[in-house]
Amino acid sequence: MSKSKTASFIHNFPLITSYKNRKELEARFNAAQQLKNVVLQEALKRADRYLQDETVKEAKRLYSKAHRTKDKNEKQQLKEKAIPLFNAARKKYQLEKYSLDSIGGQHRSNAPHLYTHIDSQTTKSICQRVMKSINGYLLGKNGRPHFAYKESIQSIESPTNGQGIIVNLEKGIVNWNACRKHLGHKSSNLILHVKFDNRNNRAADVEAHALAHRVKYCRILKKQHGRFTNYTLQVVFEGTPYERSELKEKQQQRLDCYGVDMNMHHIDLASNNDAISLPYCRSAVAHVEMEKEVKRLQRKMSRTLFLNNLDCYTTREKTKGRQTITTHQRKKGIKFPNISHNYLKLKCRKANLQRKLAAGRTDSHGYTVNQLLKVCGDLKIEKVWYRAWQCSRYGRAIGLNAPATLEAKLVRRAEQFDNNVMFVDPFKTALSQYCHRCGNKTQKKLSNRVHTCCDLNLDRDLYTALLVANTDFIGGEWLVDNDMVEQAIIEHPEKYKRK
Ligand SMILES: [Zn+2]
Repeated sequence: MSKSKTASFIHNFPLITSYKNRKELEARFNAAQQLKNVVLQEALKRADRYLQDETVKEAKRLYSKAHRTKDKNEKQQLKEKAIPLFNAARKKYQLEKYSLDSIGGQHRSNAPHLYTHIDSQTTKSICQRVMKSINGYLLGKNGRPHFAYKESIQSIESPTNGQGIIVNLEKGIVNWNACRKHLGHKSSNLILHVKFDNRNNRAADVEAHALAHRVKYCRILKKQHGRFTNYTLQVVFEGTPYERSELKEKQQQRLDCYGVDMNMHHIDLASNNDAISLPYCRSAVAHVEMEKEVKRLQRKMSRTLFLNNLDCYTTREKTKGRQTITTHQRKKGIKFPNISHNYLKLKCRKANLQRKLAAGRTDSHGYTVNQLLKVCGDLKIEKVWYRAWQCSRYGRAIGLNAPATLEAKLVRRAEQFDNNVMFVDPFKTALSQYCHRCGNKTQKKLSNRVHTCCDLNLDRDLYTALLVANTDFIGGEWLVDNDMVEQAIIEHPEKYKRK
């Protein structure tokens, strides 16, 4: 059954779990991991045979030929020839959309330890997940799927709310019945209680909004908090998510069009009347400190590994001037036999810190987006290729601040309020080099944070954002409305200077 295509949103509820519940959940997550590996093993075998097949190779050849030709009719014809070949091969090697479902089902009914832990609907959704990754592999979109190692499965879902994991929010109960009482098995009911928010604040409003909608299906999430494992219920509701009332009121007024310029550490916005600059992370100092601590723990971990497993390293000596330096390099393909308790403790601490970093980042992104949506109407964004920044010299800053994630969030939220979002091509326009008075393009050094040309003395980033706001794609060309920029600068000379 295909999933319905109506709009949906998610809401997370904490689960109240006893020791017994947690043990059972752990067993079920492990069973899911085993089941996934079994299905994946069979699917990979089929995929290898499929990729070796001559008809598939021929079809691929036709498809790549179609990609190269410029004639539209020929392209269509080649594609029409290739598609039946692909389909036939998929049928032959049983790699169609639902063909993996039977493997999971069969394995489940043959293995009693899985039968009592995983229900048939959940099995189906696990098989579907494997099929998705295999499909990406066959189409060349992603690499070869990996097997799930122990405790690597983080969520289990059921395709509908009628069978498998059933949530009843009126009673506040999740019922996960893995199997019925027959074939010598005991019925295995797992009943968990949902924790509701009884406080009188916005979180309660958000929850009340969610509870007023129809439940589509749900999943149980597992998250490691240091030494503790937390289980959460994530429910998928039909409808649109909660909108903050003050934002809704603001957005109903006609707001200005803003240009956006993304930097390493802050996001700059400017319209013809105003300019804003906000940092990506609210507590940037704390984040940098935490990142330093993570680095320190990583070094400590590698030191303990080295001292406990001296046989796994090769030692080399090299001379540097008068000094002799000894270096240790890990031998390839060797597993470390001795893992100390101290190492595991450090690993746990590191994971906890990294989780905190990620959570803090998500929180600040949400805050920034809400602040921006209070003033912004339509958006024009300079489309930056963050991957290039990350690969060149700003890897650490990008990793810490995640500007691409913030941009995606901003775009998604802006579109929810029916605002237009346009991307400006930086390669064609080069707005960070442009001067609207003389029209020249001169490259600035990174250390130069001020735009000084033709008697202008403005902040470089805010000025770029202002130019972006007044750029349009007209008649196949990017054009800057110089008069509007000039007027904005004359009317508000102080706004575009860094405070
Ligand atoms: Zn100039």
